[in-house]
Amino acid sequence: MNNSKNILNYMFGKGTISNLETILNLKESVNTYIVYYIDEYFKDSDLVKKLPIKEEDKVFFVQTKDEPKTQFINEYRDILVQENKNKPKAIVAIGGGITLDTGKAVSNLLTNEGNAEDYQGWDLVKKPGIYKIGIPTISGTGAEASRTCVMTNPDSGLKLGMNSDFTIYDQLILDPDLTKTVPREQYFYTGMDTYIHCIESLNGAYRNAIGDAFSNQAISLCKEVFLSDDMMSDENREKLMVASYLGGCAIANSYVGVVHPFSAGLSVVLDTHHCIGNCITMNAMEEFYPKEYKDFFYMAKKQGIKIPKAICTDLDEQTYFNLYNSTLIHEKPLLNALGSSFKDKLTLDKVKEIFKRM
Ligand code: NAD
Ligand code: ZN
Repeated sequence: MNNSKNILNYMFGKGTISNLETILNLKESVNTYIVYYIDEYFKDSDLVKKLPIKEEDKVFFVQTKDEPKTQFINEYRDILVQENKNKPKAIVAIGGGITLDTGKAVSNLLTNEGNAEDYQGWDLVKKPGIYKIGIPTISGTGAEASRTCVMTNPDSGLKLGMNSDFTIYDQLILDPDLTKTVPREQYFYTGMDTYIHCIESLNGAYRNAIGDAFSNQAISLCKEVFLSDDMMSDENREKLMVASYLGGCAIANSYVGVVHPFSAGLSVVLDTHHCIGNCITMNAMEEFYPKEYKDFFYMAKKQGIKIPKAICTDLDEQTYFNLYNSTLIHEKPLLNALGSSFKDKLTLDKVKEIFKRM
């Protein structure tokens, strides 16, 4: 039985980040220091200058060249242990999906024994993590609302999060002012993660009425944003932040479909980032999602966004084989989208042909 949990506390609106200090003061705890994970983009920014950072706090600027690896999470934990900062009052993560997922994973690892890779899977986290606050600065992945934190483990080839109720943020601050500076391309790619996630869910076999409602509303907001003249207007950045949050809530109640497994293949084998990987995968998705394919490319055209193409046309056989394996490993979504005979439908030749079409 699916017993869903959503975020307990969230604050929404322009300028709400100014409430961070009040929220932190309300929280009672033996220790008073805070650990911050902040997207490296904001290093030296006004945003950081305005944060209530104290001398005793520990601040990490999170790199976004690579998506989180289990090893990075273990290293963060080790640094905090070495500096005797491993029992903070709170973890505050400010940034995109990479930073938000890092905050979630470290929070869990500080209260649970072992290493990050031990918790890749479903409901493996035993104890609640450190109290954590998520503050997204780009909209679309739904990482602010979801119960997972995606990490790659290059040793096992696994790209999987700590799927757990304990992974969910205790508090969100959703401030659309923070997304003003996102580059247009990135804004589109990440925003479309919500759209793609929701179309996959709605076309799948495992459906439920609550997941559907979250997905339908998120899609409708995405269309309003990406079919308008200025996708990054104040009003549209607000709408996309809501769509992302709802998309994240939908994840708890649904599965993805064909796009995400192929995108995960690109990510594991070619290091393509998640959101741009989804968009590249869309190049080859007409046969699975004909109507949504048309809508997607119409929106990209309307916003003048170029979707990269042909990144897999000329690879060696071993690389195609690796792509095939790291796609087919995602059985749950493929089962959801294509049924129990998905392996017959996605033969090595077929998968190769799909990658070539991207
Ligand atoms: P990101 O963290 O990958 O950041 C993308 C880029 O945008 C970076 O260069 C970053 O510095 C920049 N950026 C972020 N905010 C900015 C701002 N306000 N101004 C200027 N630049 C800014 O962003 P993403 O696309 O949100 O996240 C992708 C990650 O999320 C992947 O690691 C993916 O696996 C993960 N993800 C997690 C979930 C989940 O449920 N936990 C779901 C989907 C994806
Ligand atoms: Zn996604």
